[in-house]
Amino acid sequence: MTPHLAYKPKNIWEHADAKTRNNMAALAQRYMDFLTRCKTERETVAHVRQRLLDNGYQEDFGTDRVFRCLRGKALFAARRGRVPLDKGLALVAAHADSPRLDFKQRPIVEQACVAQAKTHYYGGIRKYQWLARPLALHGVVVRESGEVLPVVLGEETDEPVFCIADLLPHLAQQQVKQPVSEAFDAEKLNVILAHSCQQKSGDKDEEKETKDPVKTRLLELLHEKYGLTEEDFITAELQAVPVGPARLVGFDGSLVGAYGQDDRICVFTALEAMLEAEAAGRSMALMIWDKEEIGSDGATGASSRFLQYCMEDLVRAWCPGVPPSHVLLESRALSADVNGALDPDYQDVHEKQNAALLGYGPVFCKYTGSRGKYGANDADAEFFGELRGLLNARAIAWQAAELGKVDHGGGGTVALFLAAYGMRVIDLGPSLLSMHSPFELASIADVYATKQAYQAFFEAPVQQN
Ligand SMILES: [Zn+2]
Repeated sequence: MTPHLAYKPKNIWEHADAKTRNNMAALAQRYMDFLTRCKTERETVAHVRQRLLDNGYQEDFGTDRVFRCLRGKALFAARRGRVPLDKGLALVAAHADSPRLDFKQRPIVEQACVAQAKTHYYGGIRKYQWLARPLALHGVVVRESGEVLPVVLGEETDEPVFCIADLLPHLAQQQVKQPVSEAFDAEKLNVILAHSCQQKSGDKDEEKETKDPVKTRLLELLHEKYGLTEEDFITAELQAVPVGPARLVGFDGSLVGAYGQDDRICVFTALEAMLEAEAAGRSMALMIWDKEEIGSDGATGASSRFLQYCMEDLVRAWCPGVPPSHVLLESRALSADVNGALDPDYQDVHEKQNAALLGYGPVFCKYTGSRGKYGANDADAEFFGELRGLLNARAIAWQAAELGKVDHGGGGTVALFLAAYGMRVIDLGPSLLSMHSPFELASIADVYATKQAYQAFFEAPVQQN
């Protein structure tokens, strides 16, 4: 038989038999459950940590399945493979943070008989998408004593939710003529917290107006219910996120709709892959970082030294005497992050031959960056070729794409921070529609294929030479 001369990526659905479709649906259910529980980096790291503990992972690096958390926001896990560690790791790195609205440190204000929380958005949001929709509060409040009060409020049907009001169309005649970048003011992203005030006592002397009666009542309520004072908000991390569970989308239930799929889709699929993989090749590692959406800085972001410190300790425990730099140089890594799928309604921002399609499997992105590949890792063709062979041998669907037309924007991932160690690294992750929105869409076929691809990577045979 002659080989296929022309290249055409594979639509997973065209080749999926009933059993595969059932497997996809089952994995999608577990994925949705994960998304519903994990809406912040802290919740995600706590969830992954628990799954690792349930699967015999320990904090003692002297064992074969290990993990370490940093500040509840970053997590490194490793599992010993068949091949000694001096052949490097097979590392998959993803990020657990997603765009959202963070409460400011002094959030509470009262205007026009409404108490609101001032916010500072986190990551790349389109501001109008956060208006006039129910929001839940997730995060922590740290009291003066150091006690940490976890907050999840608005997810249960008997709990109140929160909301940012939008301007009525009747009075938006000026606003609708403004460019989108100017029409929505970040200082108007104020979350409504309360509206009632105290009943007046009727006492003539008490008639003098209290300043900010709604805020006063709210502070009383917060104190009665949770023992909070206004100063407690200063040492809090409160995130307003979209309310509600992940849902199947479409008559055929072929898509998952949920907040925070960038990049928890990669956290989930990489974790599933590592837990299920056979320890046949290199030792496996999973790295989960925070702060990717704001540039990867900070102690728990990809530009920190956390991965390096973990590697140094791992090498000391698993192959003493070998320089950690050698292991890093020998390692293979997948920067597991999402790509933008070809949007049916905005096809003109993509260059179609090099755009990702939903249902065609995880997307290799050789380089990210923008305007002449600026800020890109640009993976080497040799490593890409190795992975192509690996996935083809297992008949796992994959595609290659870049994010949008040249000079029409772009984006970055954690790939370049991994590449800084000299390891081989390429971006590989599923494509999404409505990326960075409160309700992102992923194909359940891609969730399945991405997990398969990460598992193949973890199980990849190593040429002993
Ligand atoms: Zn991402």
